[in-house]
Amino acid sequence: MERQRVVIVGGGYAGVKALQTLASSGLCDILLIDQHPYHYLQTEAYELIANECSMTRVTIDLVALSLSYGEHVTFLKDTIREIDFENRCASGQNSCHPYDYLLLCTGSRTAYESATPGLREHSHGVKTLPSALSFKHQFEQRLYARMESEGGWCSEPFNVVIGGGGLSGVEIAAEMAHYIRVFHQDNTLTCDNIHIFLIIPHENVLEGMEPYLIEKATQRLIQLGVKIINHSRITSVEEHTLRLNDADIVCFDFMIFTGGIIASTLTSTMNLPKNKKSQLIVDEYLRIPMHEEVFAVGDIAEIRDSDGKMLPPTAQIAEQSGTLAAKNILALIEGHQMSRAKIKIEGMMVALGGKYAAISLLGWIRVSGLLGYWIKTAIMRGYRYLLHRQCTKGMDRLSETKRQCRRGF
Ligand SMILES: Cc1cc2nc3c(=O)[nH]c(=O)nc-3n(C[C@H](O)[C@H](O)[C@H](O)COP(=O)(O)OP(=O)(O)OC[C@H]3O[C@@H](n4cnc5c(N)ncnc54)[C@H](O)[C@@H]3O)c2cc1C
Repeated sequence: MERQRVVIVGGGYAGVKALQTLASSGLCDILLIDQHPYHYLQTEAYELIANECSMTRVTIDLVALSLSYGEHVTFLKDTIREIDFENRCASGQNSCHPYDYLLLCTGSRTAYESATPGLREHSHGVKTLPSALSFKHQFEQRLYARMESEGGWCSEPFNVVIGGGGLSGVEIAAEMAHYIRVFHQDNTLTCDNIHIFLIIPHENVLEGMEPYLIEKATQRLIQLGVKIINHSRITSVEEHTLRLNDADIVCFDFMIFTGGIIASTLTSTMNLPKNKKSQLIVDEYLRIPMHEEVFAVGDIAEIRDSDGKMLPPTAQIAEQSGTLAAKNILALIEGHQMSRAKIKIEGMMVALGGKYAAISLLGWIRVSGLLGYWIKTAIMRGYRYLLHRQCTKGMDRLSETKRQCRRGF
């Protein structure tokens, strides 16, 4: 039987899980395509911006990872512009990559509402590695510029505004508040006139999540001095001011926007059913309509649980859906029945600044504080450690190939 060629577009949480499942079967040739040569661990971005870790701790090398699986896996750095579904080909910058099966895992981006003038131009984000690095750099630059201009005392307040009370907004607000507090306590920062405002559209942060997590997150944010402004929508932004609900004006020195996501731009080229976040509608096997050989998983797709409830765009849903779609591709290759998606939220973990996290796992484990932080850290590090270990095999393979080339094999 001729080997089938599977193309995975996007090496994030969903794409990497799909790669692992497909590669360990040895049943197909796999081409992993990503616009970057790394898998960016977005769930650990808050550590990067708070200087708790370096860039290498939040990235996994996709070249080494692909190499580790042997000759049937190839990585290609390319940006896919369009999918030619008729001819089964993913069009990149210079060439088209043919496939028998296609897995779309290109994730999502921040939803800068076009109805909010100035939002994109005047705010920062952490959704991509370059944006997180620029965020870190620019925040420190602005803060030190202020201290420099005022002789280190910051007599005028330095206001940081974070728009969005979901997981990323809450984690960033808590981590920044903690970071500033530690800096100040260490007596390396005399500028203690820094205020963090978290602007949320609903009554509470983490809308829709378990009451336990909402309560713990709210308590911790208040304890860290974060001012939560609820029932508020940002309606316009200028260089150092923003308007709330078309009325109140808030002055800021630094602004971050995390208020919601929209599916990756790749979906805009597709004439397929989508929801209002431009996520692709998939069937119970995670395939897109009319193209049975194309699967869409992770943030790019609207994924529902077995009761039909829409699931939030999270890394764990991306991982589960990536694994299931890969298994269904293998089932098709082997002529077996595919499995219906039974994707569910196993739990939620919220980092709340420093060594503090609130977690709820498996419906009955609820922990917060240092213990929560340890459990969250163990789970995150476990994910990274296993991928790093796999990458080491890829690096060994590369070294061996180079040695053989030098010996003239
Ligand atoms: C600050 C922050 C904190 C978060 N915290 C949590 C958390 O604690 N728990 C949790 O479960 N989730 C969390 N999330 C959400 C989680 O990170 C996402 O849901 C997850 O990354 C989605 O995985 P994905 O594989 O669908 O997409 P991604 O991980 O975004 O991967 C998409 C990949 O596709 C590539 N790509 C995109 N377009 C193209 C193209 N046209 N051609 C080629 N390649 C392309 C990208 O480079 C990227 O590598 C957080 C997100 C943020 C921003």
